[in-house]
Amino acid sequence: MKPVIALVGRPNVGKSTLFNRLTKSRDAIVADFAGLTRDRHYGQGKQGKHEYIVIDTGGFEPDASSGIFKEMAKQTQQAVAEADVVIFVVDARAGVSAQDHEIAKYLRRLSKPCLLVANKAEGMLESPQLSEFYELGLGQVYPVSAAHGQGMRSLVDLALEPLNLPEPEDDAFEEGELGPIKLAVAGRPNAGKSTLINTWLGEERLVAFDMPGTTRDAISVPFERNGQKFELIDTAGLRRKGKVFEAIEKFSVVKTLQAIESANVVLLLIDATQGVTEQDSHIAGFILESGRAVVLAVNKWDAVDEYQRELLQRSIESRLSFLKFASLHFISARKRQGLGPLWTSIAQAHKAATCKMSTPVLTRLLLEAVQFQAPKRAGMFRPKMRYAHQGGMNPPVIVVHGNSLEHVTDAYKRFLEGRFRKEFNLVGTPLRIEMKTSH
Ligand code: GDP
Ligand code: GDP
Repeated sequence: MKPVIALVGRPNVGKSTLFNRLTKSRDAIVADFAGLTRDRHYGQGKQGKHEYIVIDTGGFEPDASSGIFKEMAKQTQQAVAEADVVIFVVDARAGVSAQDHEIAKYLRRLSKPCLLVANKAEGMLESPQLSEFYELGLGQVYPVSAAHGQGMRSLVDLALEPLNLPEPEDDAFEEGELGPIKLAVAGRPNAGKSTLINTWLGEERLVAFDMPGTTRDAISVPFERNGQKFELIDTAGLRRKGKVFEAIEKFSVVKTLQAIESANVVLLLIDATQGVTEQDSHIAGFILESGRAVVLAVNKWDAVDEYQRELLQRSIESRLSFLKFASLHFISARKRQGLGPLWTSIAQAHKAATCKMSTPVLTRLLLEAVQFQAPKRAGMFRPKMRYAHQGGMNPPVIVVHGNSLEHVTDAYKRFLEGRFRKEFNLVGTPLRIEMKTSH
């Protein structure tokens, strides 16, 4: 599982700027999908070989006693509790504030690795002013400048160091035997996740096996349906109670993210009675970033009238437009309606996500596409595409080789994506296209 880094600090110290830095590489991939919300508080990043999840906890008000602030503080504390390491951000220019002391007091009580970071430290790396932060009692202070990108690399290294992470294996994907389809059911609290899962597990056609060592936190149920093996993994926000699942009170963003990360296919449930909410598009955005295969299902279809249904369909088209490669179902978990076709789509998405594309076929398709429409010249450079090979699975990655490919536009990449998708029938999986230039 990817380690989770939580960013904590009072407002205006530069947490979101830092967040954007730490998640930058991934953001670039999803930069221009219409409908993908940008103001997320959680994202993924990669530093060297290590991938991680970052949570920006927003405004932290440890002594907020009421209303929305209290709610925010609760969310923050939950994120901090679930994080593997906390980065406490202070403002190098403003110096230590009373609020910093409050937060420090709270963090000192946690037995959790915590890194004290003084942001906005451009031009003052050696400044004696920084030493005043020692009074926070959190050890050494690391100066960085999020705005100028200074100190970022060692910041991530330092943050991950106490976790003693094993060296990740090389990215090369294996073509070996595929295991069971790892399935996660995601969605907001009350979307109907536990109802759906309990309905499934109560079905005769679904044979569930009890797995020894299932702990309170880790839910994993292997099962078989029509000869296909599945594993229902760590479904977020649910707890197993005897034979049934029930929702746990607090919705956990971290658990949702980790469930998505460890799945092959994510079934995203939208609550028809609530419409597509911001939280839904955040989760959807994260699924896209993770590259997991996805099936969309609007649940509680029984509870909405014709007019609401129409509105819903339209808001899915606009707010989740970046998932238009996914198949969409309208179901009622409670009334057991529309559930059968979900399995077809889950299997289809998994098949697409793990499909194998040979170099000769990819290259032929690439060259045909280029012949149909060549990439535009950019100034003196004319991108020249030579061949393509598959660089990964789940999500499938197609690596295009050639010259001057850094000038290929996003529009052209989307054009290629469309051609590849059609040819390989890639329904339900993101597809990544990478350009590899040899000079
Ligand atoms: P947040 O409220 O903690 O998320 O803070 P923001 O990321 O919104 O930043 C608050 C302000 O500080 C913005 O005006 C940023 O441009 C500025 N800022 C962020 N990082 C730096 C930095 O490294 N140096 C300087 N000088 N300003 C920064
Ligand atoms: P979870 O928090 O995502 O696990 O959601 P639950 O499964 O606990 O469901 C939340 C509420 O929605 C419960 O009261 C369910 O009975 C109800 N619910 C779930 N599925 C449906 C459905 O298909 N139709 C209607 N009308 N209600 C549903």
